[in-house]
Amino acid sequence: MFITFEGPDGSGKTTQSRLLYTELQRQGRDVLWTREPGGTAIGQKIRALLLDDPAARAAPPAELFLFAADRAQHVEEVLRPALAQGKIVICDRYIDSTTAYQAGGRGFAADFIARLNEDSTGGLSPDLTFLLDILSEIGLQRATRIKADKFEQESLNFHRRVRETYLKIAENNSRFCVLDGNRAQETIFADILAVICSKLNK
Ligand code: C5P
Ligand code: MG
Repeated sequence: MFITFEGPDGSGKTTQSRLLYTELQRQGRDVLWTREPGGTAIGQKIRALLLDDPAARAAPPAELFLFAADRAQHVEEVLRPALAQGKIVICDRYIDSTTAYQAGGRGFAADFIARLNEDSTGGLSPDLTFLLDILSEIGLQRATRIKADKFEQESLNFHRRVRETYLKIAENNSRFCVLDGNRAQETIFADILAVICSKLNK
């Protein structure tokens, strides 16, 4: 089973996906936690290129292809092999991040991004996607405490477009479970666990 966590910066993806990983491990399940960008050795280098030095800013098309390259490597080296072994795979960000940030945020054409997502993953789609929705102002406040440099460069409007795009892709797509990420960590996690229990015990 392939589970992804999506949402704007500061929405709690890493926290919630790690909590889920720990809980499923505690239940004795064969589970893997991974993330994008940076889920492989090549991906770590790409992540560093993209995020380590806020002054060294990739041009939007370069940024787009670096995220896609990271993902292609991740699918081939980590995601497909783990799924083939029957593991539950939990991934912090995946294709919907590219749709939200590069199509929604940066304005690349949606059909081009859809094709890039398809081709860079060989069509590997999640079974279940948790979208942690959060008001852009709150998400940015939270995220800025963690990595201030990066966020000084992005406007609030950029993050609003990211959020709106996420909500739009989740509409009428049955793999999505949209959760209100403005609530307490424990409350959000209880919702996640309820959804997972019903899927795993089916
Ligand atoms: O903390 P996280 O691992 O999610 O950091 C990834 C960073 O890359 C975020 O700050 C996010 O804004 C950015 N990003 C992006 N486009 C993507 C995925 C992530 O700009 N497709
Ligand atoms: Mg995170």
